[in-house]
Amino acid sequence: RQQPQSFLEEPGANSHIKKVIGVVSGKGGVGKSLVTAMLAVTMRRREASVGVLDADITGPSMPQVFGLHEKAQGSEFGILPVETKSGIRVMSVNLLLEQEDAPVVWRGPVIGNTVKQFWTDVVWQDVDYLFVDMPPGTGDVPLTVFQSLPVDGIVVVASPQELVGMIVAKAVNMAKIMNIPIVGIVENMSYFQCPDCGKKVKIFGDSHVEENAAKYGLNVIGRIPIDPSLARQCDAGEVELFEGDYLEAAADAIEAL
Ligand code: ADP
Repeated sequence: RQQPQSFLEEPGANSHIKKVIGVVSGKGGVGKSLVTAMLAVTMRRREASVGVLDADITGPSMPQVFGLHEKAQGSEFGILPVETKSGIRVMSVNLLLEQEDAPVVWRGPVIGNTVKQFWTDVVWQDVDYLFVDMPPGTGDVPLTVFQSLPVDGIVVVASPQELVGMIVAKAVNMAKIMNIPIVGIVENMSYFQCPDCGKKVKIFGDSHVEENAAKYGLNVIGRIPIDPSLARQCDAGEVELFEGDYLEAAADAIEAL
C-alpha cells in the first residue's frame, strides 16, 4: 500500500485492514458525514467487511447517523468498536464519552493522537474498507489527522457552490501534497427533485461539476440530490435503510483503487 511517509503503526490486535478511505470536504456542512455513512452502507450491501473511523473529533456524527446508543467497551485486546445493525464496526469519540453532548476542546496534536489510537488500539478485526470521516477543511487539524493514518485514497465531498470556488482546490491540493490518490468527487445537494412533478431543480445553479473536476484531473463519482427523507433517516439513526443508488459508481471506483 502507498503510505504517508514513515507510517509504521500497526492497526489494533488481530486487525487486518485492506483499504483506508478518507472522506474530506473543504468546509463543514456539505454532507461529508452523510457520504461517509452512505459509502459504508453501500459497501456493506456488497457484503464487504466495513469499518467507520470517526476522525471528526470535534463534530462526531457517526454514532448518531447509525443510531448507536451504547458505549464502546474495552477488552484485553483493546477497545471494541460498536457494531451497527448491518454489521458495520464504528469507532467515535462519542462512543467513549460519558456525556455525548460534552464538547471536545482538544488542540490539534491531541486530536491527532486520539485518531492514531483509533487505529492502533481498536480491535477492528478483518476489514476490507475502513471509511474515515475526516475533520472538515484544510487546516492544521485535518492535516494532523491525515498524518496519523495510512490513508489509501480520498473521496472529496463538495456542494455545487463550492465546486465553482477555491475551497475544493484546497482540499485537492492537500491530498496532492500528501501524495494520496483521490478516488473522485461526490457532489452533494446537486439538485432537488419535485416529489409532485418529478422535475429536477438545481437550487444552487449549475455547478459545471464535470468541467471543474476536469480542471483538477478528477472524476465525478457520485451525485446526491437534496433529499428530505435522507436527512430524516440520518437524524433518526437509520442511514442503513436509505434507498437509492447514488453511490454505486463511487463504490465501484473505491473497489478499483
Ligand atoms: P458535514 O459532515 O459535511 O458537516 P453532514 O453530513 O453532517 O455534513 O450534513 C449536514 C446536514 O445536512 C445534516 O443534517 C444532513 O442530514 C444534511 N444533509 C446532507 N446532505 C443532504 C442531502 N443530500 N439531502 C438532505 N439533507 C442532507
